[in-house]
Amino acid sequence: MSFWNWRCLKPAIGTAVVALCGGAMPAQEAPAPAVPAVPPAAPASASPPPAPPPPPLTQEDSPPLLTVPTVPDKPLLSPLADKPDWNTLKAVAGTMTRTEFQQATASVYLDDSAQLPPWHIEGDSLMVETSPGQPPITIAFVREDALRSKPIRYWRTAQELPPLQKGDSPLKGLHIALDPGHIGGGYAQVEERWLSMRPGEAVMEGSLVLQVANLLKPRLEALGAVVTFVRSQEAPVTTQTPDSLRPVAKQVLLDSGISNPPDSYTNRYDERRIISVQWQAEKLFYRVSEIRARANRVNQELKPDLVLCLHLNAEAWGDPEKPAFVPQNHLHLLVNGCYSPAELRHEDIRFEMLQRLFSRVQESEIPMADTVAGAMAQATGLPAYVYTKNTARRVSGSPYVYARNLLANRTYQCPVLYFEPYVMNHEETYKRLLLGHYIGRTLLDGHLVSSPLEDYTRGVVRGLEEYYSANRKKEAP
Ligand SMILES: [Zn+2]
Repeated sequence: MSFWNWRCLKPAIGTAVVALCGGAMPAQEAPAPAVPAVPPAAPASASPPPAPPPPPLTQEDSPPLLTVPTVPDKPLLSPLADKPDWNTLKAVAGTMTRTEFQQATASVYLDDSAQLPPWHIEGDSLMVETSPGQPPITIAFVREDALRSKPIRYWRTAQELPPLQKGDSPLKGLHIALDPGHIGGGYAQVEERWLSMRPGEAVMEGSLVLQVANLLKPRLEALGAVVTFVRSQEAPVTTQTPDSLRPVAKQVLLDSGISNPPDSYTNRYDERRIISVQWQAEKLFYRVSEIRARANRVNQELKPDLVLCLHLNAEAWGDPEKPAFVPQNHLHLLVNGCYSPAELRHEDIRFEMLQRLFSRVQESEIPMADTVAGAMAQATGLPAYVYTKNTARRVSGSPYVYARNLLANRTYQCPVLYFEPYVMNHEETYKRLLLGHYIGRTLLDGHLVSSPLEDYTRGVVRGLEEYYSANRKKEAP
């Protein structure tokens, strides 16, 4: 794939058709308080150092850079991926019937492509392509009427958590890991999650969602959950740096046919920057190495029952020198699924998808996302985002929930709820975000508005409370 194709992997969110707010702010659940809320003392994210106008936002959840092999027989791996140990997948034999596998691929994991996936079914076995020159791996299905072996996973479903006693809080004993997206702070500009409409002010996604995580922790703990952080500072989790990734960046460019790339770029607005070693190394740092480091923390160290990936959305805003507000404001939650044939050609991606599918993670992730998305919609008043490209697909009755194959929700092996509420460059949302967090309402342009950070937090807490109350076993009185 040439570098020009990479640009196609960076779809403009703005092309999607979305429902509008109708010009008014979403209806709030509670009436305006008689006493105006105390305005925040100092917006937490409103005083960054002076900086040039922001670069255009790239869609944060665009896939990692994918290249085709220059040597067809070379194992095809996505950037910074380890080669999978296919033998470990043999352990999932006997955990699933053929019909269950076919239903999961058809209803969640595959996109709408007509291309055959890199596996096929022979009798009661699944034959999966592995490495070039190596035989396929065979995974035996269990018969419909036979007992299924226990899925291999470190996390517990709602039904597997200890039954609730009378008076127990619904999240008692549940381990939730909070994963505020991006890095924020001094990294916000290089990771392209920094938006400023006027000198002296800016919203930084990585910093704002860390605030949401800090708001969530005590409230989830109050409901009995054990809460840990995948990231708790405005600092990277990975120990790699853009400098240390330069050799890999050069190789990525070489694999894509760019043998003599410029070393660096000077203008953030120049599209040609993406063929420079510096830009590729930065992208590998914040979009790939950082997520892989977080996946290691999640799967090896924290081993939670659930990860909440916290984000804020944005729409394309045209000229980066004169960024424009957009009328759209919306909400969606992502679960893992919708793999394209090009993605599945990568050995690591194919392996990770099958590992997820056979762990039956989708059987928890999707119903939980449906419930939590409903609570988020109620708390934020936002309409559902509508994808118009085949990188995402609907997987349930909820208009707010889409399946998409992201590095984070694929490599984290437990259920992942990936939140995308609010459009940061929607004018009123932007102004509300600049006000920081507060309880109640405050005056903005002549009317009372709540804090998006507070509404976000409330939606998450209510949604989880609702899902676990309905799905956990209860000790007989
Ligand atoms: Zn984000």
